[in-house]
Amino acid sequence: MRSLPLPTDTQADVFAMCLSGTTDPDLHARLTAITLTLASAGATYLQNATASALNVIPRVPSVGAVTKAELTGLYEAHLSKTNGAARAVYDRIRNAAPNNRCPLCGVGNVAHCDHHLPKSRYPDLAILPINLVPACHFCNYKKREKYPATAEQQTFHPYFDQHLLADNWVRATLNPGPPPVLVFDTAAPPTWPALDKDRVRRHFDACGLAITFTTNANDELPIIRDRLKLQAGRGGAQAVQEFLNEERDLHSQRPNSWQYATYRALAADVWFVSGGYLTIP
Ligand SMILES: [Zn+2]
Repeated sequence: MRSLPLPTDTQADVFAMCLSGTTDPDLHARLTAITLTLASAGATYLQNATASALNVIPRVPSVGAVTKAELTGLYEAHLSKTNGAARAVYDRIRNAAPNNRCPLCGVGNVAHCDHHLPKSRYPDLAILPINLVPACHFCNYKKREKYPATAEQQTFHPYFDQHLLADNWVRATLNPGPPPVLVFDTAAPPTWPALDKDRVRRHFDACGLAITFTTNANDELPIIRDRLKLQAGRGGAQAVQEFLNEERDLHSQRPNSWQYATYRALAADVWFVSGGYLTIP
């Protein structure tokens, strides 16, 4: 998970671009009539996202005389479509993640803009820039139409939830097997509020992070085995322990990465350090 700065494009600018690209005079008039309603929905979103209360935002079937299909159509015709009137905004948001790394998992490459609150249930937020987040294929697919029915079901929002990244809550556990396997879950600090503990668990589940992290970590185990063999040849079990400690400490700058969780688990496992790594196939 990574946090990102707020998009600089405003709701008003994007709406104006969508209007400029709308050639049907009837739709143009009906959209113009809901200008203030959409602006208000955007302001409410900002307020609630800042307060970790996006769950209280109402899901709406339409806005004024504009249908859900017409509102989501604005996104498809003007934002995500190549050469759409607001395509530059879509590109700016999608390309905002450093090194193209998905902010929802920290592993995949960004491929899309994801509607944090899905446009199928919140069509009034379909073109709101702060509701659009860069995401990889897998996170985008796993989240799909999910929405927060309760405060606890709010997933990590890269623009608003930096506080959820301050401490480590991704946990790896080594199952000695054979063969040894790493499994992942969440274990937020006991001092955290119950709401935040539930939220990171929900995010972990909603984005399928157990799958993403398990796949990456277990794929790395044969490399780790061979590195540890080299270390053992140079300095025995003490060198193995020091190597694992160093890797753990180097990865601590990303405390919720699968790498940090992996090395934390391995460095703390006496069986693994004293030769268990040799059973990795
Ligand atoms: Zn992702």
